[in-house]
Amino acid sequence: MKLSKEHIKLIQNQLNKFGYNASSEDGIVGNNTKTALEKVAEIPSDWNFTRKAIAFIQIACTNNGIDAGTIDGYWGPQTDYAFNVLLEFVETGLLPNAWRDIIPLNVNPNNWPLQEETSMNSFYGEVGKNQVRLQLPYPHRLSWDKRKIVNSIFCNEKVHDSLHKILTNVLNYYGIDEIRRLRLDLWGGCLNVRKMRGGTKWSTHSWGIAMDYDPDNNRLKWGRDQASFAKPEYDKWWELWEAEGWTSLGRSKNYDWMHIQATK
Ligand SMILES: [Zn+2]
Repeated sequence: MKLSKEHIKLIQNQLNKFGYNASSEDGIVGNNTKTALEKVAEIPSDWNFTRKAIAFIQIACTNNGIDAGTIDGYWGPQTDYAFNVLLEFVETGLLPNAWRDIIPLNVNPNNWPLQEETSMNSFYGEVGKNQVRLQLPYPHRLSWDKRKIVNSIFCNEKVHDSLHKILTNVLNYYGIDEIRRLRLDLWGGCLNVRKMRGGTKWSTHSWGIAMDYDPDNNRLKWGRDQASFAKPEYDKWWELWEAEGWTSLGRSKNYDWMHIQATK
């Protein structure tokens, strides 16, 4: 990890803000910056400059109410994201709404099983089995060929009624125009018997109990800073799924925001 001028500027800004006197905020590491950093009591003195600087970014984020994880002086994804949030906060005075504390609804009215092969097989049957046709409450478009309209799909018989109820609620709440604008009709698939990417376990799509939406704007490895489904206008969408006990990997694990599944 090499600290850029932008990092150093923010460090100097925060050193000044918290009374450590780094002098000018020019993004250049001089004696004033180094001395100011030495004064921060929470940072072990035997760490090298870079590690101290990163630890101070983590401390500054924490002091501003932004979760940067453990203050260890190492740059990981959480520190990276927290840094960007702090940068925006310093520049605009606002915390981006993507950094909301999302607390998924935790109910399970349909008694969905845990995501574990034995429980899934006993509840849903073997992978690829017990599939029924679901008439969709509103037309979907194939995400990989948007001219293709989909009026019905195959899913596991156990999720059929729940899926129908959720999508009916989505239609009632958003209406078809808003559904199209938010791309809640861009369907990326349900039943697909396959192993998880890079793994040996079955994907939950193998049982026909997972749905993908708008994969182009909610890529597998994207977190809430990039995924469009992490925005507040999608809160209700997720709540409607969660009220039926479905789990969003985006909302619970902050990746694969396209994906929703009927497991706990
Ligand atoms: Zn998926």
